Amino acid sequence: KLFNEVQEAKGNIRVFCRCRPLSKIEVSNGCSTVVDFDAANDGELGILNSSSMKKTFKFDRVYTPRDDQDVVYADASPMVISVLDGYNVCIFAYGQTGTGKTFTMEGTKGNRGVNYRTLEELFKIAKERSETFTYDISVSVLEVYNEQIRDLLSPPTTSKKLEIKQATEGLHHIPGVVEAKVENIEEVWNVLQTGSSARAVGSNNVNEHSSRSHCMLCIMVTANNLINGECTKSKLWLVDLAGSERLAKTDAQGDRLKEAQNINRSLSALGDVISALANRSNHIPYRNSKLTHLLQDSLGGDSKALMFVQISPSDKDLSETISSLNFATRVR
Ligand code: ADP
Ligand code: MG
Repeated sequence: KLFNEVQEAKGNIRVFCRCRPLSKIEVSNGCSTVVDFDAANDGELGILNSSSMKKTFKFDRVYTPRDDQDVVYADASPMVISVLDGYNVCIFAYGQTGTGKTFTMEGTKGNRGVNYRTLEELFKIAKERSETFTYDISVSVLEVYNEQIRDLLSPPTTSKKLEIKQATEGLHHIPGVVEAKVENIEEVWNVLQTGSSARAVGSNNVNEHSSRSHCMLCIMVTANNLINGECTKSKLWLVDLAGSERLAKTDAQGDRLKEAQNINRSLSALGDVISALANRSNHIPYRNSKLTHLLQDSLGGDSKALMFVQISPSDKDLSETISSLNFATRVR
């Protein structure tokens, strides 16, 4: 009930804030925590500045560093499942590099994140419903870097130029992109592995590269109703966004500058689209970036969106933390 009320009021966007623990290095460097979780159960987060003045932010959920992957996924799960009922859904992780975007979305082998758990649950429910529905599930894995779309499931030798097309019956698609049909979770795991190893190709520093590109997993679902013969198509985007940090002044030249400008442009385009939707604006500027253009079907209309705003607890990251929380407040 609460879920629906929030959705109606907020143009179908919900915002969950997740704070990672202080790292060992931060602890040994004497960093302190600037985040106060006293009212986390009410969705409130306090940020203490250098003179210990507290500023509070409110979200649909606030996770403390102790909240694990199970807790986080449990809250995202109702939304994820709605893709089987024909809704387009979009879940993305926003924040400074090093705050846990990849941890939340991909997770680690022993501690899987939203992507894997989502597919696992979709297969489970599809099986439970198999007397009434058959579901076809396929996945694409894309990367957007410097406003160019790269297909991480196609062999690196085939460097097709990928463009977004509006299909006649509604959903956007990208001609030529690999849509890998998956029948079980083992196949999914292989596909996800292929995608993440392709990310490394052609970059000398994988971590740096991934912090400057958006990694986008698209799950396409075709539901065939065995009783009334109806067929619906829907899609779920799971997006690990590029790091939102501002570029250090010393780096502001050449390729780094261009990358930073493209990241800025796409993240602010995302903010613009979401706030235009929340304000029920007549014009929604989807075309201002590849990111928002790709997500168009899953942002707005009766689609459902969830943003994880990821933050660091450290005093050293205070200004980036404030800027991420302001971004998230603007879209909410
Ligand atoms: P990002 O993708 O935003 O750059 P990462 O997901 O790579 O950040 O996280 C940075 C580091 O912090 C990783 O070592 C990750 O395992 C760890 N980390 C992030 N979030 C958590 C968390 N909630 N609990 C424990 N460790 C975390
Ligand atoms: Mg990452």
